[in-house]
Amino acid sequence: MKNENLYLTLKRGFPADPAALALETADACRYSFSDVDRASARFAGVITSLGLRAGDRVVVQVEKSPEALFLYLACLRAGVVFVPLNTAYQRAELAYFLGDAQPSLVVCRPASEAAMRALASEAGVAHVLTLGEAGDGSLAEAARNQPEDFATVPRAADDLAAILYTSGTTGRSKGAMLTHDNLASNARTLVAYWGFRRSDVLLHALPIFHAHGLFVACHCALLNGSPMLWLPRFDVDTAMKLLPRATVFMGVPTFYTRLLEQPEFDRGTIPAMRLFISGSAPLLAETHREFEERTGHAILERYGMTETVMLTSNPLDAVRRAGTVGFPLPGVNLRIADDAGRTLSTGEIGHVQVRGPNVFPGYWRMPGKTREEFTHDGFFRTGDLGKIDGQGYVVLVGRSKDLIITGGYNVYPKEIESFIDDIAGVKESAVIGLPHRDFGEAVAAVIVRESGAALHEADVIGTLKGELANFKVPKRVFFLDELPRNAMGKVQKNLLRERFSDLAA
Ligand code: ATP
Ligand code: MG
Repeated sequence: MKNENLYLTLKRGFPADPAALALETADACRYSFSDVDRASARFAGVITSLGLRAGDRVVVQVEKSPEALFLYLACLRAGVVFVPLNTAYQRAELAYFLGDAQPSLVVCRPASEAAMRALASEAGVAHVLTLGEAGDGSLAEAARNQPEDFATVPRAADDLAAILYTSGTTGRSKGAMLTHDNLASNARTLVAYWGFRRSDVLLHALPIFHAHGLFVACHCALLNGSPMLWLPRFDVDTAMKLLPRATVFMGVPTFYTRLLEQPEFDRGTIPAMRLFISGSAPLLAETHREFEERTGHAILERYGMTETVMLTSNPLDAVRRAGTVGFPLPGVNLRIADDAGRTLSTGEIGHVQVRGPNVFPGYWRMPGKTREEFTHDGFFRTGDLGKIDGQGYVVLVGRSKDLIITGGYNVYPKEIESFIDDIAGVKESAVIGLPHRDFGEAVAAVIVRESGAALHEADVIGTLKGELANFKVPKRVFFLDELPRNAMGKVQKNLLRERFSDLAA
Protein backbone atom coordinates (compact mmCIF):
# COMPACT_ATOMS: atom_id res chain seq x y z
CA MET A 1 0.00 0.00 0.00
CA LYS A 2 1.24 3.46 -0.87
CA ASN A 3 1.55 5.51 2.29
CA GLU A 4 -0.86 8.43 1.81
CA ASN A 5 -0.51 9.71 5.37
CA LEU A 6 -1.19 13.46 5.27
CA TYR A 7 1.80 14.15 7.50
CA LEU A 8 4.12 12.79 4.81
CA THR A 9 2.45 15.00 2.21
CA LEU A 10 2.93 18.05 4.41
CA LYS A 11 6.49 17.06 5.27
CA ARG A 12 7.46 16.86 1.62
CA GLY A 13 6.84 20.63 1.61
CA PHE A 14 9.20 21.33 4.53
CA PRO A 15 12.36 23.26 3.56
CA ALA A 16 15.64 21.37 3.13
CA ASP A 17 17.18 23.41 5.92
CA PRO A 18 15.90 21.79 9.13
CA ALA A 19 16.66 24.97 11.07
CA ALA A 20 14.23 27.03 8.94
CA LEU A 21 11.59 28.78 11.03
CA ALA A 22 8.19 27.05 11.13
CA LEU A 23 6.44 28.80 13.98
CA GLU A 24 6.98 31.89 16.11
CA THR A 25 4.65 32.78 18.96
CA ALA A 26 3.57 36.28 19.97
CA ASP A 27 6.00 36.05 22.90
CA ALA A 28 8.88 35.19 20.55
CA CYS A 29 9.26 31.41 21.12
CA ARG A 30 10.61 30.03 17.87
CA TYR A 31 10.27 26.51 16.47
CA SER A 32 12.08 25.20 13.41
CA PHE A 33 10.67 22.61 11.01
CA SER A 34 12.95 20.08 12.66
CA ASP A 35 11.47 21.03 16.07
CA VAL A 36 8.01 20.41 14.62
CA ASP A 37 9.08 17.03 13.26
CA ARG A 38 10.74 15.92 16.50
CA ALA A 39 7.98 17.16 18.83
CA SER A 40 5.30 15.47 16.75
CA ALA A 41 7.38 12.25 16.72
CA ARG A 42 7.56 12.25 20.52
CA PHE A 43 3.83 12.86 20.92
CA ALA A 44 3.10 10.15 18.34
CA GLY A 45 5.29 7.83 20.40
CA VAL A 46 3.13 8.50 23.46
CA ILE A 47 -0.06 7.81 21.54
CA THR A 48 1.15 4.42 20.29
CA SER A 49 2.71 3.52 23.65
CA LEU A 50 -0.75 3.91 25.21
CA GLY A 51 -1.88 1.17 22.87
CA LEU A 52 -3.92 3.31 20.49
CA ARG A 53 -4.19 1.89 17.03
CA ALA A 54 -4.88 3.32 13.60
CA GLY A 55 -8.46 4.56 13.39
CA ASP A 56 -8.88 5.13 17.15
CA ARG A 57 -10.09 8.62 18.07
CA VAL A 58 -8.28 11.23 20.13
CA VAL A 59 -10.51 14.02 21.42
CA VAL A 60 -8.61 17.23 22.07
CA GLN A 61 -9.90 20.30 23.89
CA VAL A 62 -6.93 22.58 24.55
CA GLU A 63 -5.88 26.19 24.18
CA LYS A 64 -4.19 27.10 20.94
CA SER A 65 -0.45 26.63 21.40
CA PRO A 66 2.46 25.25 19.38
CA GLU A 67 2.08 21.99 21.34
CA ALA A 68 -1.54 21.76 20.21
CA LEU A 69 -0.35 21.86 16.61
CA PHE A 70 2.34 19.25 17.34
CA LEU A 71 -0.35 17.04 18.88
CA TYR A 72 -2.46 17.31 15.73
CA LEU A 73 0.51 16.28 13.60
CA ALA A 74 1.29 13.49 16.07
CA CYS A 75 -2.22 12.08 15.63
CA LEU A 76 -1.74 12.07 11.86
CA ARG A 77 1.61 10.33 12.25
CA ALA A 78 0.22 7.70 14.64
CA GLY A 79 -2.65 7.05 12.23
CA VAL A 80 -5.29 7.93 14.82
CA VAL A 81 -8.24 10.23 14.15
CA PHE A 82 -7.90 13.77 15.49
CA VAL A 83 -11.12 15.16 16.99
CA PRO A 84 -10.67 18.77 18.14
CA LEU A 85 -13.35 20.46 20.22
CA ASN A 86 -14.17 24.12 20.57
CA THR A 87 -12.61 25.48 23.76
CA ALA A 88 -15.93 27.13 24.64
CA TYR A 89 -17.75 23.80 25.05
CA GLN A 90 -18.85 22.98 28.59
CA ARG A 91 -19.96 19.89 30.48
CA ALA A 92 -23.17 18.95 28.66
CA GLU A 93 -21.61 19.51 25.25
CA LEU A 94 -18.46 17.61 26.20
CA ALA A 95 -20.49 14.67 27.47
CA TYR A 96 -22.26 14.54 24.11
CA PHE A 97 -19.08 14.72 22.05
CA LEU A 98 -17.28 12.09 24.13
CA GLY A 99 -20.26 9.77 23.81
CA ASP A 100 -20.42 10.35 20.07
CA ALA A 101 -16.71 10.20 19.20
CA GLN A 102 -15.93 7.28 21.57
CA PRO A 103 -12.28 8.22 21.87
CA SER A 104 -9.53 6.09 23.40
CA LEU A 105 -7.65 9.18 24.57
CA VAL A 106 -8.74 12.66 25.62
CA VAL A 107 -6.25 15.52 25.84
CA CYS A 108 -7.44 18.54 27.81
CA ARG A 109 -6.30 21.72 29.55
CA PRO A 110 -4.73 21.28 32.99
CA ALA A 111 -7.45 23.49 34.48
CA SER A 112 -10.22 21.18 33.29
CA GLU A 113 -8.46 17.92 34.10
CA ALA A 114 -10.64 16.86 37.04
CA ALA A 115 -13.91 17.61 35.22
CA MET A 116 -12.68 15.93 32.06
CA ARG A 117 -11.56 12.82 33.95
CA ALA A 118 -15.04 12.48 35.43
CA LEU A 119 -16.70 12.86 32.01
CA ALA A 120 -14.19 10.53 30.39
CA SER A 121 -14.78 7.84 32.94
CA GLU A 122 -18.56 8.07 32.40
CA ALA A 123 -17.96 7.72 28.66
CA GLY A 124 -15.59 4.78 29.13
CA VAL A 125 -12.52 6.60 27.76
CA ALA A 126 -9.33 4.71 28.62
CA HIS A 127 -6.82 7.59 28.83
CA VAL A 128 -6.77 11.27 29.76
CA LEU A 129 -3.70 13.51 29.44
CA THR A 130 -3.22 17.24 29.83
CA LEU A 131 -1.48 19.60 27.47
CA GLY A 132 0.18 22.70 28.76
CA GLU A 133 2.39 22.06 31.75
CA ALA A 134 4.82 19.28 32.44
CA GLY A 135 3.91 17.11 35.41
CA ASP A 136 2.02 13.96 36.26
CA GLY A 137 -0.59 13.14 33.70
CA SER A 138 0.77 15.55 31.11
CA LEU A 139 1.58 14.74 27.53
CA ALA A 140 4.89 16.58 27.89
CA GLU A 141 5.91 14.32 30.79
CA ALA A 142 4.88 11.20 28.93
CA ALA A 143 6.80 12.38 25.85
CA ARG A 144 10.05 12.92 27.75
CA ASN A 145 11.42 9.45 27.10
CA GLN A 146 10.06 9.02 23.60
CA PRO A 147 12.47 8.97 20.65
CA GLU A 148 12.67 11.95 18.31
CA ASP A 149 11.99 9.91 15.26
CA PHE A 150 8.83 7.98 14.55
CA ALA A 151 7.91 5.88 11.56
CA THR A 152 4.75 7.60 10.35
CA VAL A 153 2.02 4.96 10.22
CA PRO A 154 0.92 4.05 6.69
CA ARG A 155 -2.55 5.27 5.80
CA ALA A 156 -4.59 4.85 2.65
CA ALA A 157 -5.99 7.92 0.86
CA ASP A 158 -9.51 7.30 2.16
CA ASP A 159 -8.59 6.49 5.76
CA LEU A 160 -9.86 9.02 8.28
CA ALA A 161 -7.50 11.76 9.42
CA ALA A 162 -9.94 13.79 11.49
CA ILE A 163 -13.50 14.18 12.63
CA LEU A 164 -14.47 17.82 12.94
CA TYR A 165 -17.75 18.82 14.46
CA THR A 166 -19.67 21.42 12.46
CA SER A 167 -20.27 24.76 14.14
CA GLY A 168 -23.85 23.96 15.19
CA THR A 169 -25.38 27.03 13.56
CA THR A 170 -28.44 25.25 12.22
CA GLY A 171 -28.82 22.57 14.89
CA ARG A 172 -26.75 20.04 16.77
CA SER A 173 -23.14 19.78 15.56
CA LYS A 174 -22.44 16.81 13.29
CA GLY A 175 -19.11 15.01 13.13
CA ALA A 176 -17.71 15.47 9.63
CA MET A 177 -15.28 12.67 8.74
CA LEU A 178 -12.30 13.88 6.73
CA THR A 179 -9.84 11.58 5.01
CA HIS A 180 -6.11 11.98 4.50
CA ASP A 181 -6.78 12.61 0.82
CA ASN A 182 -9.62 15.14 1.43
CA LEU A 183 -7.14 17.24 3.36
CA ALA A 184 -4.07 16.67 1.20
CA SER A 185 -5.84 17.53 -2.06
CA ASN A 186 -7.34 20.62 -0.51
CA ALA A 187 -3.99 21.79 0.84
CA ARG A 188 -2.24 21.30 -2.51
CA THR A 189 -4.95 23.24 -4.32
CA LEU A 190 -4.83 26.16 -1.90
CA VAL A 191 -1.05 26.52 -1.94
CA ALA A 192 -1.11 26.71 -5.74
CA TYR A 193 -4.25 28.86 -6.08
CA TRP A 194 -3.12 31.48 -3.59
CA GLY A 195 0.42 31.51 -4.98
CA PHE A 196 2.19 30.51 -1.78
CA ARG A 197 5.97 30.84 -1.86
CA ARG A 198 8.74 30.14 0.63
CA SER A 199 9.16 33.84 1.44
CA ASP A 200 5.60 34.02 2.77
CA VAL A 201 4.91 34.64 6.44
CA LEU A 202 1.40 33.77 7.58
CA LEU A 203 -0.09 35.64 10.51
CA HIS A 204 -2.20 32.92 12.15
CA ALA A 205 -4.83 34.28 14.54
CA LEU A 206 -7.65 31.77 14.02
CA PRO A 207 -8.64 29.00 16.42
CA ILE A 208 -7.30 25.58 15.44
CA PHE A 209 -10.35 23.53 16.47
CA HIS A 210 -12.08 24.67 13.27
CA ALA A 211 -11.42 23.84 9.62
CA HIS A 212 -10.50 27.43 8.75
CA GLY A 213 -7.62 27.73 11.22
CA LEU A 214 -6.45 24.11 11.12
CA PHE A 215 -6.93 22.86 7.58
CA VAL A 216 -6.84 26.06 5.58
CA ALA A 217 -4.26 28.13 7.44
CA CYS A 218 -1.88 25.57 9.01
CA HIS A 219 -1.85 23.25 6.02
CA CYS A 220 -0.98 26.08 3.63
CA ALA A 221 2.01 27.17 5.70
CA LEU A 222 3.27 23.64 6.44
CA LEU A 223 2.93 22.33 2.91
CA ASN A 224 4.53 25.50 1.58
CA GLY A 225 7.37 25.18 4.10
CA SER A 226 7.04 28.76 5.31
CA PRO A 227 6.69 30.24 8.81
CA MET A 228 3.60 31.15 10.80
CA LEU A 229 3.40 33.95 13.33
CA TRP A 230 1.17 32.40 15.90
CA LEU A 231 -1.35 34.30 18.01
CA PRO A 232 -3.17 32.30 20.70
CA ARG A 233 -6.30 34.22 19.68
CA PHE A 234 -7.07 37.28 17.63
CA ASP A 235 -6.47 40.42 19.61
CA VAL A 236 -6.12 43.53 17.61
CA ASP A 237 -3.17 45.02 19.52
CA THR A 238 -0.94 41.98 19.08
CA ALA A 239 -2.09 41.61 15.50
CA MET A 240 -1.10 45.22 14.83
CA LYS A 241 2.39 44.49 16.25
CA LEU A 242 2.93 41.40 14.08
CA LEU A 243 1.24 42.54 10.88
CA PRO A 244 4.30 44.48 9.63
CA ARG A 245 6.17 41.15 9.26
CA ALA A 246 3.36 39.18 7.62
CA THR A 247 2.77 38.61 3.91
CA VAL A 248 -0.51 36.67 4.25
CA PHE A 249 -3.34 37.06 6.74
CA MET A 250 -6.41 34.85 7.07
CA GLY A 251 -9.39 35.98 9.08
CA VAL A 252 -13.10 35.98 9.64
CA PRO A 253 -14.99 39.20 8.82
CA THR A 254 -14.90 40.50 12.41
CA PHE A 255 -11.07 40.52 12.35
CA TYR A 256 -11.28 42.97 9.46
CA THR A 257 -13.81 45.25 11.12
CA ARG A 258 -11.61 45.28 14.27
CA LEU A 259 -8.60 46.31 12.21
CA LEU A 260 -10.58 49.08 10.52
CA GLU A 261 -11.52 50.43 13.96
CA GLN A 262 -7.82 51.18 14.55
CA PRO A 263 -7.14 54.70 13.30
CA GLU A 264 -3.44 53.90 12.82
CA PHE A 265 -4.14 50.83 10.65
CA ASP A 266 -3.20 51.72 7.07
CA ARG A 267 -0.71 50.85 4.32
CA GLY A 268 2.19 51.70 6.64
CA THR A 269 1.20 48.89 9.05
CA ILE A 270 1.48 46.23 6.38
CA PRO A 271 4.57 46.88 4.25
CA ALA A 272 5.18 43.20 3.38
CA MET A 273 1.56 42.09 2.99
CA ARG A 274 0.47 40.52 -0.28
CA LEU A 275 -2.80 38.80 0.57
CA PHE A 276 -5.72 39.27 2.97
CA ILE A 277 -8.18 36.36 2.95
CA SER A 278 -11.62 36.23 4.58
CA GLY A 279 -14.04 33.38 5.10
CA SER A 280 -16.39 31.44 7.43
CA ALA A 281 -19.08 34.12 7.27
CA PRO A 282 -20.19 36.74 4.75
CA LEU A 283 -17.91 39.74 4.38
CA LEU A 284 -19.97 42.89 4.03
CA ALA A 285 -19.39 44.74 0.76
CA GLU A 286 -18.94 47.85 2.88
CA THR A 287 -16.06 46.27 4.82
CA HIS A 288 -14.48 45.19 1.53
CA ARG A 289 -14.71 48.73 0.14
CA GLU A 290 -13.52 50.50 3.28
CA PHE A 291 -10.59 48.09 3.62
CA GLU A 292 -9.50 48.64 0.04
CA GLU A 293 -9.73 52.42 0.42
CA ARG A 294 -7.65 52.34 3.60
CA THR A 295 -4.98 49.82 2.62
CA GLY A 296 -5.06 49.41 -1.15
CA HIS A 297 -5.76 45.67 -0.65
CA ALA A 298 -8.92 44.03 -1.95
CA ILE A 299 -9.74 41.31 0.60
CA LEU A 300 -9.97 37.90 -1.10
CA GLU A 301 -13.19 36.27 0.06
CA ARG A 302 -13.55 32.52 -0.08
CA TYR A 303 -16.14 29.94 0.93
CA GLY A 304 -15.94 26.57 2.57
CA MET A 305 -17.36 24.44 5.31
CA THR A 306 -16.34 21.74 7.73
CA GLU A 307 -17.55 18.96 5.43
CA THR A 308 -15.59 20.08 2.37
CA VAL A 309 -12.90 22.40 3.68
CA MET A 310 -12.53 24.91 0.82
CA LEU A 311 -14.87 25.19 -2.14
CA THR A 312 -14.49 28.55 -3.84
CA SER A 313 -12.13 31.49 -3.81
CA ASN A 314 -11.90 34.87 -5.41
CA PRO A 315 -8.93 34.97 -7.76
CA LEU A 316 -5.41 35.93 -6.86
CA ASP A 317 -4.66 37.80 -10.09
CA ALA A 318 -8.06 38.99 -11.31
CA VAL A 319 -10.89 41.07 -9.89
CA ARG A 320 -11.89 40.11 -6.35
CA ARG A 321 -15.53 40.90 -6.46
CA ALA A 322 -17.11 42.10 -3.21
CA GLY A 323 -20.27 40.24 -2.25
CA THR A 324 -19.12 37.09 -4.05
CA VAL A 325 -17.08 34.11 -2.91
CA GLY A 326 -15.29 33.78 -6.24
CA PHE A 327 -14.86 30.71 -8.44
CA PRO A 328 -14.98 26.99 -7.65
CA LEU A 329 -11.44 25.83 -6.89
CA PRO A 330 -9.71 23.54 -9.40
CA GLY A 331 -11.09 20.02 -8.96
CA VAL A 332 -14.28 21.25 -7.26
CA ASN A 333 -17.44 20.58 -9.22
CA LEU A 334 -20.07 23.08 -8.04
CA ARG A 335 -23.62 23.36 -9.34
CA ILE A 336 -26.79 25.20 -8.45
CA ALA A 337 -29.89 23.00 -8.34
CA ASP A 338 -33.60 23.55 -7.83
CA ASP A 339 -35.71 21.66 -5.28
CA ALA A 340 -36.21 18.84 -7.79
CA GLY A 341 -32.46 18.51 -8.35
CA ARG A 342 -32.38 20.06 -11.83
CA THR A 343 -29.29 22.14 -12.55
CA LEU A 344 -30.15 25.82 -12.90
CA SER A 345 -28.63 28.27 -15.29
CA THR A 346 -26.60 31.42 -14.77
CA GLY A 347 -28.15 33.93 -12.39
CA GLU A 348 -30.81 31.59 -11.00
CA ILE A 349 -30.86 31.07 -7.24
CA GLY A 350 -30.87 27.53 -5.93
CA HIS A 351 -29.13 24.95 -3.74
CA VAL A 352 -25.34 24.85 -3.83
CA GLN A 353 -24.18 21.26 -4.42
CA VAL A 354 -20.57 20.11 -4.67
CA ARG A 355 -18.45 17.13 -5.60
CA GLY A 356 -14.68 16.73 -5.56
CA PRO A 357 -11.70 15.11 -3.87
CA ASN A 358 -12.08 17.56 -0.97
CA VAL A 359 -15.66 16.51 -0.15
CA PHE A 360 -15.99 14.36 2.98
CA PRO A 361 -17.28 10.77 2.83
CA GLY A 362 -20.02 11.37 5.43
CA TYR A 363 -21.04 12.17 8.97
CA TRP A 364 -19.59 10.11 11.79
CA ARG A 365 -22.10 7.49 12.98
CA MET A 366 -24.93 9.14 11.03
CA PRO A 367 -25.44 6.97 7.94
CA GLY A 368 -29.04 8.19 7.50
CA LYS A 369 -28.07 11.84 7.59
CA THR A 370 -25.17 11.11 5.24
CA ARG A 371 -27.51 9.49 2.69
CA GLU A 372 -29.88 12.45 2.91
CA GLU A 373 -27.17 14.99 2.25
CA PHE A 374 -25.75 13.36 -0.89
CA THR A 375 -27.54 13.30 -4.24
CA HIS A 376 -27.83 10.09 -6.29
CA ASP A 377 -24.89 11.27 -8.42
CA GLY A 378 -22.62 11.94 -5.47
CA PHE A 379 -23.00 15.67 -4.94
CA PHE A 380 -23.06 16.97 -1.36
CA ARG A 381 -25.95 19.28 -0.49
CA THR A 382 -24.19 22.16 1.26
CA GLY A 383 -27.39 23.64 2.71
CA ASP A 384 -26.42 27.01 1.25
CA LEU A 385 -28.38 28.91 -1.39
CA GLY A 386 -26.61 30.79 -4.14
CA LYS A 387 -26.21 31.57 -7.80
CA ILE A 388 -23.45 31.82 -10.36
CA ASP A 389 -23.24 35.23 -11.99
CA GLY A 390 -22.51 36.04 -15.64
CA GLN A 391 -18.74 36.01 -15.03
CA GLY A 392 -18.78 32.73 -13.14
CA TYR A 393 -18.48 34.19 -9.64
CA VAL A 394 -20.46 32.33 -6.98
CA VAL A 395 -22.80 34.51 -4.92
CA LEU A 396 -24.23 33.11 -1.68
CA VAL A 397 -27.62 34.36 -0.57
CA GLY A 398 -28.05 32.48 2.71
CA ARG A 399 -28.78 29.05 4.08
CA SER A 400 -31.73 27.08 2.76
CA LYS A 401 -32.96 26.59 6.34
CA ASP A 402 -33.19 30.39 6.65
CA LEU A 403 -35.06 30.99 3.39
CA ILE A 404 -38.45 32.59 4.06
CA ILE A 405 -41.42 31.72 1.90
CA THR A 406 -44.17 34.25 2.51
CA GLY A 407 -47.40 34.21 0.56
CA GLY A 408 -45.62 32.16 -2.12
CA TYR A 409 -42.69 34.58 -2.48
CA ASN A 410 -39.09 33.67 -1.65
CA VAL A 411 -37.38 36.17 0.63
CA TYR A 412 -33.63 35.96 1.19
CA PRO A 413 -32.89 37.27 4.68
CA LYS A 414 -29.45 38.58 3.71
CA GLU A 415 -30.98 41.08 1.30
CA ILE A 416 -33.32 42.53 3.92
CA GLU A 417 -30.57 42.54 6.56
CA SER A 418 -28.33 44.65 4.33
CA PHE A 419 -31.09 47.29 4.08
CA ILE A 420 -31.78 47.22 7.81
CA ASP A 421 -28.09 47.50 8.68
CA ASP A 422 -27.97 50.79 6.74
CA ILE A 423 -30.65 52.38 8.96
CA ALA A 424 -29.18 54.85 11.45
CA GLY A 425 -29.14 53.41 14.97
CA VAL A 426 -28.92 49.75 13.87
CA LYS A 427 -25.88 47.85 15.06
CA GLU A 428 -26.82 44.50 13.55
CA SER A 429 -29.84 42.53 12.48
CA ALA A 430 -31.16 39.08 11.72
CA VAL A 431 -34.17 38.50 9.50
CA ILE A 432 -36.20 35.34 10.09
CA GLY A 433 -39.45 33.74 9.02
CA LEU A 434 -42.15 33.15 11.63
CA PRO A 435 -45.22 30.93 11.20
CA HIS A 436 -48.19 32.95 9.97
CA ARG A 437 -51.74 31.74 9.33
CA ASP A 438 -52.27 33.70 6.10
CA PHE A 439 -48.81 33.87 4.56
CA GLY A 440 -47.36 30.55 5.72
CA GLU A 441 -44.42 32.51 7.03
CA ALA A 442 -44.11 36.17 7.88
CA VAL A 443 -40.90 38.16 7.58
CA ALA A 444 -39.66 39.40 10.96
CA ALA A 445 -36.52 41.30 11.92
CA VAL A 446 -34.53 41.11 15.12
CA ILE A 447 -32.40 44.18 15.65
CA VAL A 448 -29.62 45.18 18.03
CA ARG A 449 -29.60 48.97 18.41
CA GLU A 450 -26.45 51.08 18.61
CA SER A 451 -26.05 52.10 22.22
CA GLY A 452 -28.26 55.08 23.01
CA ALA A 453 -30.15 54.89 19.70
CA ALA A 454 -33.91 55.45 19.95
CA LEU A 455 -35.26 53.27 17.20
CA HIS A 456 -38.72 51.73 17.15
CA GLU A 457 -40.57 49.09 15.19
CA ALA A 458 -42.57 51.69 13.24
CA ASP A 459 -39.40 53.58 12.20
CA VAL A 460 -37.83 50.48 10.73
CA ILE A 461 -40.98 49.35 8.92
CA GLY A 462 -41.58 52.91 7.66
CA THR A 463 -38.06 53.22 6.25
CA LEU A 464 -38.13 49.83 4.53
CA LYS A 465 -41.54 50.44 2.95
CA GLY A 466 -40.00 53.08 0.72
CA GLU A 467 -37.18 50.76 -0.35
CA LEU A 468 -38.50 47.24 -0.70
CA ALA A 469 -41.46 45.38 -2.13
CA ASN A 470 -44.19 44.99 0.45
CA PHE A 471 -43.78 41.23 0.84
CA LYS A 472 -40.13 41.75 1.88
CA VAL A 473 -40.88 44.35 4.54
CA PRO A 474 -40.88 42.79 8.03
CA LYS A 475 -44.31 42.48 9.56
CA ARG A 476 -42.75 42.59 13.01
CA VAL A 477 -39.53 44.04 14.38
CA PHE A 478 -38.09 42.88 17.70
CA PHE A 479 -35.20 44.38 19.62
CA LEU A 480 -32.58 42.45 21.60
CA ASP A 481 -29.42 43.50 23.42
CA GLU A 482 -27.48 40.95 21.42
CA LEU A 483 -28.07 38.20 18.88
CA PRO A 484 -27.62 34.59 20.05
CA ARG A 485 -24.40 33.24 18.58
CA ASN A 486 -22.76 29.83 18.69
CA ALA A 487 -19.19 29.28 19.81
CA MET A 488 -17.93 30.24 16.32
CA GLY A 489 -19.72 33.57 16.52
CA LYS A 490 -22.41 32.69 13.98
CA VAL A 491 -25.97 33.90 14.55
CA GLN A 492 -28.30 31.06 15.57
CA LYS A 493 -31.50 31.86 13.75
CA ASN A 494 -33.18 28.67 14.93
CA LEU A 495 -33.10 30.08 18.47
CA LEU A 496 -34.59 33.37 17.28
CA ARG A 497 -37.36 31.52 15.44
CA GLU A 498 -38.16 29.53 18.59
CA ARG A 499 -38.17 32.60 20.75
CA PHE A 500 -40.46 34.74 18.61
CA SER A 501 -42.60 32.11 16.90
CA ASP A 502 -45.78 33.04 18.76
CA LEU A 503 -45.51 36.72 17.97
CA ALA A 504 -45.77 36.82 14.20
CA ALA A 505 -49.23 38.25 13.77
P1 ATP B 1 -23.87 23.57 11.17
O1 ATP B 1 -23.57 22.85 9.90
O2 ATP B 1 -23.57 22.74 12.37
O3 ATP B 1 -25.23 24.17 11.22
P2 ATP B 1 -22.10 25.65 10.18
O4 ATP B 1 -22.65 25.31 8.85
O5 ATP B 1 -22.09 27.09 10.59
O6 ATP B 1 -22.84 24.81 11.32
P3 ATP B 1 -19.32 25.44 9.46
O7 ATP B 1 -18.97 24.24 8.69
O8 ATP B 1 -18.35 25.99 10.42
O9 ATP B 1 -20.62 25.10 10.29
O10 ATP B 1 -19.71 26.63 8.52
C1 ATP B 1 -19.91 26.49 7.13
C2 ATP B 1 -20.94 27.49 6.67
O11 ATP B 1 -20.45 28.83 6.87
C3 ATP B 1 -21.25 27.41 5.21
O12 ATP B 1 -22.18 26.40 4.92
C4 ATP B 1 -21.78 28.80 4.92
O13 ATP B 1 -23.16 28.90 5.27
C5 ATP B 1 -20.98 29.67 5.87
N1 ATP B 1 -19.86 30.35 5.15
C6 ATP B 1 -18.58 30.00 5.05
N2 ATP B 1 -17.88 30.88 4.33
C7 ATP B 1 -18.75 31.84 3.96
C8 ATP B 1 -18.65 33.03 3.19
N3 ATP B 1 -17.48 33.46 2.68
N4 ATP B 1 -19.78 33.75 3.00
C9 ATP B 1 -20.96 33.35 3.51
N5 ATP B 1 -21.11 32.25 4.25
C10 ATP B 1 -20.03 31.50 4.47
MG1 MG C 1 -23.18 23.50 7.99
